[in-house]
Parts: sequence; structure tokens; C-alpha cells
Amino acid sequence: TENYQQADPKLWDAIHHEAERQADTIELIASENIVSKAVRAAQGSVLTNKYAEGYPGHRYYGGCQYVDIVENLAIERAKQLFGAEYANVQPHSGSQANEAAYAAFLQPGDVILGMDLNAGGHLTHGAQVSFSGQIYQAYAYGLDATTERLDFAAIQALAERVHPKLIVAGASAYSREIDWLAFRKIADEVGAYLMVDMAHIAGLVAAGLHPNPVGIADVVTTTTHKTLRGPRGGLILAQAKYQKQLNSAVFPRTQGGPLEHVIAGKAAAFYEDLQPEFTTYASQVIKNAQAMADEFQHSENIRVVSGGTDNHLLNIDLTQTELTGKDAQALLDSVHITTNKEALPNEQHSPFVTSGIRLGTPAITSRGFTEADARRVAQLITKTVTHPHDEQALTEVREAVQALCAAHPITR
Ligand code: PLP
Repeated sequence: TENYQQADPKLWDAIHHEAERQADTIELIASENIVSKAVRAAQGSVLTNKYAEGYPGHRYYGGCQYVDIVENLAIERAKQLFGAEYANVQPHSGSQANEAAYAAFLQPGDVILGMDLNAGGHLTHGAQVSFSGQIYQAYAYGLDATTERLDFAAIQALAERVHPKLIVAGASAYSREIDWLAFRKIADEVGAYLMVDMAHIAGLVAAGLHPNPVGIADVVTTTTHKTLRGPRGGLILAQAKYQKQLNSAVFPRTQGGPLEHVIAGKAAAFYEDLQPEFTTYASQVIKNAQAMADEFQHSENIRVVSGGTDNHLLNIDLTQTELTGKDAQALLDSVHITTNKEALPNEQHSPFVTSGIRLGTPAITSRGFTEADARRVAQLITKTVTHPHDEQALTEVREAVQALCAAHPITR
């Protein structure tokens, strides 16, 4: 251990324990991943010392010649990855990317239409507890109760009624491919801007495995830390004609100095995302999610929402078990399987309780899990939630989880 770690054991013990937790846990939170050593090194670099308000070539401080190179690399790689004319790599998070994107196109009080939080939308798509529901007049579309998929006729009818100035497409918990052109058609019919928040699926889009919204939407936002497998942060992509208004919406309107060390981490991740191996990874992410969904379809008590998945995640319905989503999350935690509770399209419980859980494969795929492993994980989840009081069964699951983790150590 380094001297600074000995000097501050409270902090460093917690960090080391977190590393052990990650190593000993099957991580199924759909928005998480495991970054490479290159991404961590870039983010832990001396770039954290530097102030660089402004944009490359137009900074408010001296000494920016090297951070300009770094930020330009991140911008060029992001543009190449998604075929975009414009990229802003400065948003500190997905939420701040969305805040800036709204600010570039809207005035306070304008009407926005996004996906309902309970249906799988994100807080920043208009939830009342978020700035997005407080600054703007927000309406929400949900899912069809029978197909549990987006219903474009219903979205169109709602758009015609509320006249949004901006429609938000994209989700945090939707397992099906999203038809961007159908959203574009509705936006054009009602004279709205179209914003796509592809945070969850950006890595699949980058790999060419999900349709690309860039060029269809007016503005596309994403996080960089989910399927893209970069540092925690945000990214905005758009047509070149929106450059000026988007740049000023990020800085100086909603942020100060950019986090150049994180931007270096984004550049490192985008470099990796551009390599052929990333497509192999992203395709395995989908195969693993589909294997897991297929395995659940064979269990009597667990139903997969919408009957399957096209992407990196699936939601499962636990109403035929004796557990709520909240109970299942806690029980799975106790066997070292990390998930999160999730509301179902026809949810009867509150959002704090729910009847479902969301499962994602980006992190386990990064540590080498294959379809056979993913099926095994689905079996272990089924065994856990159908034997909540059976200590013997839970012990067997715990041992199997440790065996899977040991077979696939984190080497990144
Ligand atoms: N947009 C979507 C669709 C998300 O799922 C998330 C995060 O979960 C965000 C935005 C927000 O990202 P952040 O947590 O970085 O603010």
C-alpha cells in the first residue's frame, strides 16, 4: 500500500472493499459496466489539475495546449463513432447533457413530451421531482398494456393533444428496439424538435447493433458510462447547424470548467469503442441478455416483460412469486447478485416497492460471461426468488455465484 493509503485508511479501506465487492458480485444493474485500465488511468491523470473554461482553441485560461489536444481527440472520436457532425464532450453527466440540450432548444414553460418514469423513462424526461418537470411543462407517454411496447398511435394522439415543442425518445428500462423514424414522423407532424436520449444503448448503436438516431433526431444525448464502457459522464451529438446554441447551453449556461481528466477517459473509451473487438463485445452483451430472457421463459413463476429483449436488458415480472421488486432486490443482494427493482407497465405497487426487477448484461459480459453463464445466472435468480426462506437453497446459490465470479475474474 502507498503512504497516502496508510495515512487515510477510512477512505482507502472503503475503496478496497468496493473493489472486492465488485469482484465477488454478479453485477446486473443495466446501467453499469467495467472500464478498462486505460480509461481509469486517463481519469486519474494530472488533467484533473487543469482549468479550461471554453472550448478547444477558445479558452479563458492559459496553458490549455495539451487539454485542447485531449478534448479534440474525444470530439473527433465521438463524431466518428456515431457519424455525427457535432459533438460536445463536456457534460459532466447524462442529466447535465439533457439539461443543456433542453436549454438549447426551449424556454422555461415550454411543453415537452417524454417517456413516463414508471414505464421506463428517465427522471430528466419530465418527472416532477426533476428540473425537467419543474422548468418545463411535461407530459408523458407510456407503453401499451398488452404488448408492453411503445404504441406510436397513442404517442401521436397525445402529441396532437399537448403540442410539445420537443419530444424525448429513449429510455432507462426498455428492452426493445426503438423506431426513431416513427418518433421523427410524429415530431414533424406536430412541429416539435426530436431529442433522443440513447444513454442505455449507445454502445449497441456505436457497434451498429441498434439503429442510430444521429441524423434523425435534432439532438442526441447519452451517458458515456453504460454500454459505451467509458468514464461516468455525458455527451451531446447533433447536426453542425446547432453547434453554437448547444455549446453555449453547456458552457457557460449550465456548467463551468470542463472535467478534462474525464474527457480524457472518454477519449480513451471512444478509441476502444472504435476497435472491431468492441462489436464482438456488444454483440455478446445482446446474446447474453437474450439467453437470460430465454431461460426465464422456461421458468413457471417468472415472466419476461414484453416476452424478451432486443438489447442489453430485460425486466422480469415477479407477481407470481411471493416477493415484490424491493424484496427481490434485497434477497438477491444477500446472495451477491446486484439488481434494481423496476416498475412494470401495469404496476400495482408504488415505485419504492414495485413488482419487477431490471437485469442487464453489460458488466458481466465485460468480465467474460457467455450465454451458458447467463443462463446459469437466470437459474440462480429463479432459485433465489422462488426459495426466499430456504437457507440451504440460498447457500447453494451463494456458492454458485462465487464459483462464477472466480471463473471470470475482473482483469480489466
Ligand atoms: N438518460 C438515461 C436514459 C439514463 O438511463 C440515465 C441514467 O441512468 C441518464 C440519462 C442520466 O445519467 P446520469 O446518471 O449520468 O446523470
